[in-house]
Amino acid sequence: KAYLDYNATAPMREETVAVIAQAMREVGNPSSTHQAGQGARRRLEAARSALAALVAVDPTAVIFTSGATESNHAALAAVDGKRLVSAIEHPSVAAVDASCPPIPVTPDGVINLDALERMLRSYRPELVAVMAANNETGVVQPVGAIARLVHEAGALLHVDAVQAITKLPLCVGGVDGADSLSISGHKLGGPPGIGALILAPGRRIRPWLRGGGQEGRRRAGTENVPSAVGWAHALASSVDWNAIALLRKRLEKEVRLLCPEARIVGEEAPRLPNTTCLITPGISNEAQLMALDLAGVSIGTGSACSSGKVEPSMVLQAMGVGADDARSAIRISLGWASCERDIDAFLSVYESMVGVRRRRMGLSSG
Ligand code: PMP
Repeated sequence: KAYLDYNATAPMREETVAVIAQAMREVGNPSSTHQAGQGARRRLEAARSALAALVAVDPTAVIFTSGATESNHAALAAVDGKRLVSAIEHPSVAAVDASCPPIPVTPDGVINLDALERMLRSYRPELVAVMAANNETGVVQPVGAIARLVHEAGALLHVDAVQAITKLPLCVGGVDGADSLSISGHKLGGPPGIGALILAPGRRIRPWLRGGGQEGRRRAGTENVPSAVGWAHALASSVDWNAIALLRKRLEKEVRLLCPEARIVGEEAPRLPNTTCLITPGISNEAQLMALDLAGVSIGTGSACSSGKVEPSMVLQAMGVGADDARSAIRISLGWASCERDIDAFLSVYESMVGVRRRRMGLSSG
């Protein structure tokens, strides 16, 4: 078995699972004033501090949520004025307001800063949302430059940092200048169903869930203490992204040798160290996914499967990739437990897939 779909979700370490199991045995609502409740409060606040340290903010700036989908919704719903979002956002941003004109990207998948500047002037948004790095291609965005343009125009900047956090240096309110960040537990070795919205210093936000007044009266509901504790535990184990970048380098090099026509999306742009979006013309991503899956290799495709019909990825289309190429794109994403054997397993299936393709093309042209 080779799991190569970390951008979808990362496996949890055994120790993290054990820490969560232990936290689930401990009773106590953080809002209760008895000792059991105060114990839960301490565990929750320790987890909050660990998250705050990750981006160098005060713990009061960290609002726990049910995941980055909720964080993105909350950030976008916090303004009454117009919103501008990039053409390559995750559906949890893109679907909030379908009336936003999308900010275009270059063929390498980087936000077009000239177009952004023009749109800020003509559209006058109150908030702009861009992602720090794309989940399908790994292409990294120039958040600092974007923040300067957005702030000059008097707007707020929300950044979906789900894929970038821990892989890139990021600091809310610091050099990157975002006014808020979304992050997600299950992409970082923690459990699914927990995330956070992190606010820059001085940024206040309107509550989006009312009730018990938890999370500084911004997001009501009894806090998910076991998941917060597990997430913080996962963050304490560092990941060697340089080693992962070397694994990816080998993967891309060997793919090119096996199939010179294959293309790596966003290759000329800065990319996350763990992600390869690979177009192999002539083999559909469904066929690749199935052949790999039969061999126990899990990869992702950028296609959203809606009502039984596989649509080509919106992200790749926004980059000007043709529909046929987009239907041949797969995503290989690595993480903390990835090793040479995973790459071997992928390459062995890939070699037989491109061999079949070559024989088929040879037959049809001959
Ligand atoms: N944004 C990005 C860039 C993502 O990759 C994901 C997860 N696929 C999300 C947001 C949503 O995160 P969650 O699953 O925690 O809601």
